[in-house]
Amino acid sequence: MISHTLEKKSGSLLSAIRILPQKELRHLGKQMAILNLHSWMLKSKANGPGDRFVLWFQGCSIRCPGCFNEGTHSTSPRILVPHEYVMTLIQELEGRIEGVTISGGEPTEQPDGLLALLRALRRSTPLSIVLYSGYSYDEIAASAVGRAILYHLDMLIAGPFCRELASSSGVVGSLNQEIHFLTSRYSPSDILDWSEFELVIDTQGHLTITGVQVPELTNEGSFSKI
Ligand code: SF4
Repeated sequence: MISHTLEKKSGSLLSAIRILPQKELRHLGKQMAILNLHSWMLKSKANGPGDRFVLWFQGCSIRCPGCFNEGTHSTSPRILVPHEYVMTLIQELEGRIEGVTISGGEPTEQPDGLLALLRALRRSTPLSIVLYSGYSYDEIAASAVGRAILYHLDMLIAGPFCRELASSSGVVGSLNQEIHFLTSRYSPSDILDWSEFELVIDTQGHLTITGVQVPELTNEGSFSKI
C-alpha cells in the first residue's frame, strides 16, 4: 500500500514544480529534460503486468476518433516536470511496484524527455517498462531517436485507437493495435489477466477510473477518467 507520506510528498512536489518561474525552468532545462505531463498514478493494477507506476504525457497530435483521453491532446503546458523529479517519485516506490507504464497523450511526441526518463529508469532501477503509443513500431523506429526509445522498452503497445475495432481485452484499446515484446522480461502469458479498469480513491476521497477499457458511466465530473 502506498504510504500517506509519499502521497503527500507527491502532492507537495507537484505544487512546488507548478510554480517554478519560466526562467528557472529554462535553466533546469539545460541540465535535464523537462516533461509536459497530464497526470501520474503511484500504483495501478490496470495499466500493465503487476503493480505499476503510471505516467500520462500531455499532448497528442494523432486525434483518434473516439479517444477517451481527449484531455491529454493539447500540447499547452500542464505539469512541467524535470524528469529527475519523476525519477525521485519512482525510486521511492521500489520494492512495491513491478514496473513503470508510460502512456498519454503521445509520449513519443516528447522524444528527448521520454528518452532521458527511459535512460534514467534503466540506469537506476530494475523496473520493467511498458509504453503505449498511437504510432506503430516502424513509425517510432523511423523517428529521430525512435530506435533509442525502443531499445529501452520491455513491451510496446502500438498503433492508433480504432473505434470500429474496440477491444475488451484489457490490454489493447482496439484490435488493430500491436503488442511487441522487446525483451525476454514478458511473454504472451503475462498479458492474459490484466484488469480492464480499476477505481482508485485517493487520500482526499477523489475517485479516478483508469485502464484500457474504461466503462461509460453517468454523472461524469464527479470523478477523473484516464
Ligand atoms: S494516440 Fe492515444 S491519446 Fe492520442 S488520440 Fe489516439 S487514443 Fe487518444
